[in-house]
Amino acid sequence: MAKFVFVTGGVVSSLGKGIAAASLAAILESRRLEVTLIKLDPYLNVDPGTMSPFQHGEVFVTDDGAETDLDLGHYERFVTTRMRRTNNFTTGQIYKSVLEKERRGDYLGKTVQVIPHVTNEIQEFVLRGANAVPVDVAIVEIGGTVGDIESLPFLEAVRQMSLKLGPTNFAFVHLTYVPFIAAAGELKTKPTQHTVQKLREIGIQPDVLLARADRVIPDDERAKISLFTNVPLHGVISVPDVDTIYKVPRLLHEQGLDELICMKLQLLTRPADLRRWDRLVHEVEHPRTSVRIAMCGKYTELSDSYKSLNEALRHAGIHNHARVEIGYVDAETLDAGNAEVLAAYDAILVPGGFGKRGIEGKIVAARYAREHGVPYLGICLGMQVATIEFARHVAGLAGANSTEFEADCAHPVIALIEEWQDRDGSVQRRHAGSDLGGTMRLGAQSSDVKPGTLAHEIYGPVVTERHRHRYEANVNYLERLQAAGLVISALTQREQLTEIVELPRAQHPWFMGVQFHPEFKSTPWDGHPLFGSFVKAALAHQVARQAARRDEPAVRAVG
Ligand code: GLN
Repeated sequence: MAKFVFVTGGVVSSLGKGIAAASLAAILESRRLEVTLIKLDPYLNVDPGTMSPFQHGEVFVTDDGAETDLDLGHYERFVTTRMRRTNNFTTGQIYKSVLEKERRGDYLGKTVQVIPHVTNEIQEFVLRGANAVPVDVAIVEIGGTVGDIESLPFLEAVRQMSLKLGPTNFAFVHLTYVPFIAAAGELKTKPTQHTVQKLREIGIQPDVLLARADRVIPDDERAKISLFTNVPLHGVISVPDVDTIYKVPRLLHEQGLDELICMKLQLLTRPADLRRWDRLVHEVEHPRTSVRIAMCGKYTELSDSYKSLNEALRHAGIHNHARVEIGYVDAETLDAGNAEVLAAYDAILVPGGFGKRGIEGKIVAARYAREHGVPYLGICLGMQVATIEFARHVAGLAGANSTEFEADCAHPVIALIEEWQDRDGSVQRRHAGSDLGGTMRLGAQSSDVKPGTLAHEIYGPVVTERHRHRYEANVNYLERLQAAGLVISALTQREQLTEIVELPRAQHPWFMGVQFHPEFKSTPWDGHPLFGSFVKAALAHQVARQAARRDEPAVRAVG
């Protein structure tokens, strides 16, 4: 039976609760404990699949095809336990399940209420997540901020759970904020006092406070927090801002967080061993070189929309001893007239995306990469635009497009499966839009990789990656595209769905589009072979560009 650590948040959101939970999990794992993490999201959406990445950040996809909160990405990058559908649930899912039970008559005519029916359902979901694989500790992160109406049923549910579990089987960790008020030149503990009061009103006494601040919190302020919150001094842990998230496990361990949790849960373990985290931080802080990658998409850097992608590129940098600088190029402003802005970069990446906005700019980016020998990686939508670009400008299919952007285009090289299966003129164009939730190809799928291709060099004979998309490369065009020189290096066996396209090595040093999302499987430890190879190609391109630049004046002098 798993023991539980419940992680709550106070004062404001965006303090890094997910990173804190993942870091605690990582330290416990380094003590040879089996750990899993569960995220509870208080909103009513059934899953984040239909939410704008602008609002909610990236949608993280698990192997078993669940569209989940991006915190699950942090979890997978910090611990070895793989996340599943049961590791994340929302209020929407809880209510859906309760209402289905009510309609089935499971409640035997009783009045269905938040307490006990909703709170019981929450507890069942938590237990289901914790018991999906055998673990010693389940860390349960409760989204939102204490004091929100929305997260109240979650807090009530875990309070009830703690009562049933008994004191040696649970710990409460509360993440709070200690602002520095410049005018007074002081750190203020009042918001922390209030958020803990709120928590205690609900019946939860935290065992640990992770006090976030822009600086280290001095001992006298920690003592004050301890006095007012009834949390022992050693349980008040100062968590200042750090320049890399990989420093957080060491930071928490040095102040005894894991020891405290293990004492409370009466877990006898080996001491923590964080040497690999130290090595990682050292690598991050001592790159030998740097490389610039243009990310040509819709969302800006601040919006967490490309969280896993940014991390995957960073990991690839670490493995190439290079700092990866990502330049966000707004696809909506890019056109043939200003494509030269891309010349400042060592490689071009077009990430996944939905909808028409910025598509022509992304096509311009793919074309620029193809024509100028710049390493190109297209992910999901990025593969689709590379295919459209190739169809239009190399295969002579003017007007090629995806039916997602132009329903009756001349050459639907990208389309829904049911569209191309029925192309006898009476095509029933079923457009995504009728039911946007749950109509995608989702989760891990495998396919064979063609020998002799760049993809084969990277992946070997089989590729298994996670998917999240509706549209596919249209099988009816594959022959024409291949005849024009496009290499299709991986196809799914049964449906012949295109997984990877590339340009022949003789024509381009590194040009690849993948229909899946490799970024979800990158970790700081192993990196990811595809991103590793891409960053390596970017470095090679940088060297070649520098050499070309050096040669230039000499050539001119001769001429
Ligand atoms: N919009 C495209 C599709 O649905 C690509 C999706 C993506 O990039 N994740 O197929």
